Amino acid sequence: MIRSMRPVIVAGNWKMHSTPADAGELARVIASRTRAPGVTRVICPPFVCLAAVRDAVVGEDVAVGAQDVHHDRQGAFTGDIAAAMLEGLATWAIVGHSERRRYHHETNEMVGEKAHRALEAGLRPILCVGEDLEVREAGAHVAEALVTDQVVHALALNPGAVAAGLVIAYEPVWAIGTGRSASGADAGAMAAAIRRAFRQVPEAGDGDAVPILYGGSVTAANADQFFAEPEIDGALVGGASLKPDEMAGIVARAALTAAARGLAG
Ligand code: PEP
Repeated sequence: MIRSMRPVIVAGNWKMHSTPADAGELARVIASRTRAPGVTRVICPPFVCLAAVRDAVVGEDVAVGAQDVHHDRQGAFTGDIAAAMLEGLATWAIVGHSERRRYHHETNEMVGEKAHRALEAGLRPILCVGEDLEVREAGAHVAEALVTDQVVHALALNPGAVAAGLVIAYEPVWAIGTGRSASGADAGAMAAAIRRAFRQVPEAGDGDAVPILYGGSVTAANADQFFAEPEIDGALVGGASLKPDEMAGIVARAALTAAARGLAG
């Protein structure tokens, strides 16, 4: 697949914000403020808000995603949610977010299994990868090696993942929720490294065909530099995804890239 055929995606990760009582209205406002031809929009609210958001965006061409799935199909895992349980509620799922890796001690192997469970259940996984600050400060090559390792581990468990809808989000840990984003050029270079990582696991699919998002303090004011990068196909937005004005600005910028790729018609 050539680069211009890759979709342009803006996904919002609401993290642990909103309630079933207010999530529907927030989703409705965001959906109505972000209509843009050629841009795939995804809202990932907390599990308990999935139904409210699903109902609120009916007819809006907005997909609903979960923020996680368990790495097993079922079992004695109190408080966890299996991918198959999301049927009718979500069509996408974030896996391997750095907050899950850090606070829930998720390993690369578990993240690969989560992606597997998501794909098995017909969900599109957004596989998050990214390096800590100390790794970034050790140099771009060190960061690329770590992220390549994260990607290769996840792909090893997921033959055919690209064709089944895998999306990767490059989210440097030091940029998440800090107000400090990567530069567009650094994010683009990492996206290119992620595509090269697919050569180590060719059964997962073609690295040139996988959509790669940037995430980490994306706002309407800085989105431009990421969408201008040819290797980057969209954004995974955290804090700003709860603000309709911010999302309107981010999706408007994404729409320029969609138009330039011939996706808007
Ligand atoms: C995220 O949660 O995936 C994220 C990128 O957060 P933020 O945009 O707030 O940095």
